[in-house]
This record gives sequence, C-alpha cells and structure tokens, in this order.
Amino acid sequence: MSVALKLSFEVLEVRTRHPFTIARGTSDAYRRVWVRLTDADGAEGWGEADPSSYYGETADTVVAALGRLGPVLPAGPFDLENAEAAMLRTLGGNPSARVAVSAALHDLAGKRLGAPLWKLWGLDPARAPLSSFTIGLDAPEIVRAKVREAAPYPILKIKVGTPDDEAMLRAVREVTDKPLRVDANGGWSAKQAMARLPLLEEMGVELVEQPVAAGDLAGLAAVHRASRIPIVADEACQVAADIPGLAGAVDGISIKLAKCGSLREALRMIAVARAHHLSVMVGCMIETSLGITAAAHFTPLLDLVDLDGAALLAHDPFVGASIDGGRITLPTAPGLGVTRR
Ligand code: MG
Repeated sequence: MSVALKLSFEVLEVRTRHPFTIARGTSDAYRRVWVRLTDADGAEGWGEADPSSYYGETADTVVAALGRLGPVLPAGPFDLENAEAAMLRTLGGNPSARVAVSAALHDLAGKRLGAPLWKLWGLDPARAPLSSFTIGLDAPEIVRAKVREAAPYPILKIKVGTPDDEAMLRAVREVTDKPLRVDANGGWSAKQAMARLPLLEEMGVELVEQPVAAGDLAGLAAVHRASRIPIVADEACQVAADIPGLAGAVDGISIKLAKCGSLREALRMIAVARAHHLSVMVGCMIETSLGITAAAHFTPLLDLVDLDGAALLAHDPFVGASIDGGRITLPTAPGLGVTRR
C-alpha cells in the first residue's frame, strides 16, 4: 500500500502596515495557516489558509479541519480531481482550509514535473492584467497619505460602504487622477447604492464591487440596471454554482481562493463566468505571498486583478509572485515557486 502524503501546518501571525478597515470592521493582526504536504521522498508542497470570519472560518477552525483530512490525503499530488472532491466530502465548508491543501498538492505536482503552475495550465504570464492596490476606510488626511504611499500602483481600489463615502472619495481625488474602483463590501442598501451612483460617476469610478448585501440579489440587479459603471459580485459569489443565478444581475464576478476552496474550482468559476458572458476578477484576503501566488498563477485568464494582500503587510514571510507597480510577475521555479523569506 502506498503511503499517504504527510500533512503539517503552522499558524503564522501577520500584521498590516496600517490598520485595515472595510465596511464590516477593522483589524491589523491576522492568523494565517501555512500548510505543508511532504511525500515519501521528502519533497514538499506548500499552501496557505486565509480564513475569514465572514465565511465562518478562523485559524482555529482551519487547524481543526486540517486534523480531519488525514484519512483522505492521497498518496501523491497528481489525482487532483479526486483529492479535492474527497476533501469537500469530508469537510463540507472550510474553504480556506481546503484550498491550502489544494494549493500544496498543485505545488507538489509542479515540483514533480519541474514546471511552474502557469506553464502546466498552458498560460502566458505576460497576459496577467495589472493589479489594483487597496485603500481601506480612514479619515481624509490618512487617506490622502495612503494614496501618496501607493504611488507605484497605477490602479486604486477604494473601500466604501459608510456614511463617509463622499469625504473618502473626494480625499482620494484631491491627490490622484488614477483609475479608481470601489468596494462597498455589501455596506449599502440598494437605495443607498443608487443614490451614490452620480457621485461615483463624478469621481470617475470604473467599477463597483459588491454594493449590497450578499443575499440581496434583487438589490444587486436593481443597482446593476441603474448603473453605467460595471458591477462585480464578490461576497455574493463563492463557487461556480453561484454564477448562473448572478448572470443578468451583475457585469462580473470576483474569485477568491478562501471562498471557493480549491484551485480547480477557481478554474471552473472562470469557465462558468465566461459561459455567462461575465467578466472575471480575482481578489484576496490579507494574506502572505504564499496565498497570493496560488491565485496569481491563473491571472493570465482574467480581466481584473486585486492581489494586494501581501503588499499591505508590514512583513511578508514568503517570496513568490510580486505585484510591484501593479505588474504581476509570476515565478518561473516549479510548482507555486514560493520560498521562505
Ligand atoms: Mg471585495
């Protein structure tokens, strides 16, 4: 009988350079889980879990979920379809825990074959769109300082979804004429969202992410009908099966690995969104370059990228894909191509 891959993990605490505030709350310390799969020859595949309490996960639930995976871990990294299905059957939810193992399996498969993941997927790294850089909610003087600090990034994503949206956006526009996208994280009612559309147009906003609560599909559709600015579903779209119901109510969907639970599910989301003529974006949590790199490998397939999670950190424990100046540089080393700093 072949021996299963050995799973080990470590909880890492990371901090953002500034306290990071969105419509749902604020934090500057995040517990991430570094997952390693080791095969019989000692080769390692790595992945990262970036749990979000919004989706019912914490570092503790990730650790508990990983502890349940022993019986379904495969002997090698190549039967990815079955390995991911077995994790889904065993854990049900726990998407960030599952995607950490999925990424580690893909990393190990790439290392075994001697090729980076983007190459195994047949992608051209030069086709990756520019990444935006996020400015969290803050007082106008701090917002202006953050926008100046973000000078190398050509596209900014501004967090909104509070009564201070106008002050926030005017503070940004006082110091930059860059393309702006906004993300309300479901912080508006449909009525509030529609009332803000003239301001968003005046500010030259090119995209609105999740204007209303995830469950408010009628509200999302109403905002979409009223808006000349494209609307993208983030919290309302976790997995591929959510996409058909969103078609007609949005212009695009946003993938996050911590929502969808596996790299193969992320690829399915891209295919399903394309079949419904939707644009496709990838976003992230606050994560290290290990988590970011797993998502960066499929960016050549996308229209919009927001992979600034590691760029917001005070100290990034890993080196992988980079988004310097918004330009995504994919590793050329096998697998994910990530190393410990
Ligand atoms: Mg978002």
